Amino acid sequence: MKFYFPDSQDLVSPTYDFARDEYSPLRVRQRDDRYAHEVLETPPYHGILVSKSIVDGSIMGSGKYTASQRARLYRLGVDRFFRLPDGVESLGDNGAFNYADELVPPVSVRETLDFYEGCGFDAGVSVDHIIFGYDSAASFESVDPAWAERRLITLRLAAEFIEMVNDEKSPVVPVGAAQGWGPASYADSVAQLQKMGYQRIALGGMVPLKTKEILESLDAIQEILEPTTDLHLLGITRFESMETFADLGVTSFDSTSAFRQSFMDDRKNFHSMDGEYVALRIPQVDGNPTLKRAILAGRVSQAEAVKHERECLAAVRAFDGSAKATTNALAALGAYEQICQTKKSYLEAYARTLDAAPWTTCPCSLCRELGIEIAIFRGTERNKRRGFHNLSVLSRKMETLQPRKPKVMSRSTDG
Ligand SMILES: [Zn+2]
Repeated sequence: MKFYFPDSQDLVSPTYDFARDEYSPLRVRQRDDRYAHEVLETPPYHGILVSKSIVDGSIMGSGKYTASQRARLYRLGVDRFFRLPDGVESLGDNGAFNYADELVPPVSVRETLDFYEGCGFDAGVSVDHIIFGYDSAASFESVDPAWAERRLITLRLAAEFIEMVNDEKSPVVPVGAAQGWGPASYADSVAQLQKMGYQRIALGGMVPLKTKEILESLDAIQEILEPTTDLHLLGITRFESMETFADLGVTSFDSTSAFRQSFMDDRKNFHSMDGEYVALRIPQVDGNPTLKRAILAGRVSQAEAVKHERECLAAVRAFDGSAKATTNALAALGAYEQICQTKKSYLEAYARTLDAAPWTTCPCSLCRELGIEIAIFRGTERNKRRGFHNLSVLSRKMETLQPRKPKVMSRSTDG
């Protein structure tokens, strides 16, 4: 099972000074900052997924890339731009989510293949159009005509894409995008893509689906799946179901969730092999909007807030696992929560985090270097490193997956 990490230009600065919370004055962002595969000893993913709409921008606005980053990606190619180590693959797609509101995809097959070839991607997904809806009971005739049309557009563009790849002997490995609104429509899409010659097929539009719905679709796909076809789940982790996914022909997936939970989730910020923990929230006084408003309104004294912030950092950094250090850290965190007017207290969850101290047993290079700093929810440098750590945990968890059942050898030989 391979894991691809969707790029969103998430890098960290290796010279960041955690004690002072300062960047080096000599830092040159693009040259010095590092990707997850550069700061962890082992790349935590098998590949990166880069969406055209993130690079080039889309109808929804400009992308995540500055004009100069975009120019460098095109000039250097994806391997050199990302400084990808051997064995880490690159997969391109259109980022269909960004134009999901349009009637038809605003990008042509030609532009898409030019993007993949221009940047030197190993593989690229055909242009697709997401169906935002799932109704396993809807037949091809009774379904919302807009959903049916989106599936047909996706298939038409997939046919055009593989034809162009073949005609031009493109080095890009074509990955067919399958859309559907239920088991039968997904299975039909996959069957048609196989007929077009695709050996890799990406299943789109499944992000909002319940695991049960994904499984019923995979079951239906299984009926027509050729043993040589690899399935990719776009945007899905669901680690607890990964072995079942693998048994049903899924060989790769991509997801940002392990990374983003480090700073987007209310609780599951720090992953470990046996569970998730809340990170210790010590926001910067000038980086916390609620606190800033309270200070401006005169309800909180700035000096008082800064004093508590510092005491909090000191108490957490002095944490050594002892009962006394735990009490001190929790007291300081509690006092700063009051100042920050945090709506609900995290103290109970913090006690659990400190009790487990999962960074002390994590083998990843970031935990070894940073210690408890990585468990502090504060600013992009700590939060992204914790996200990278979470990726390394996901990668180790994936190594524990049992090897998948051998695929049924060719169906054609048994009758
Ligand atoms: Zn770690």
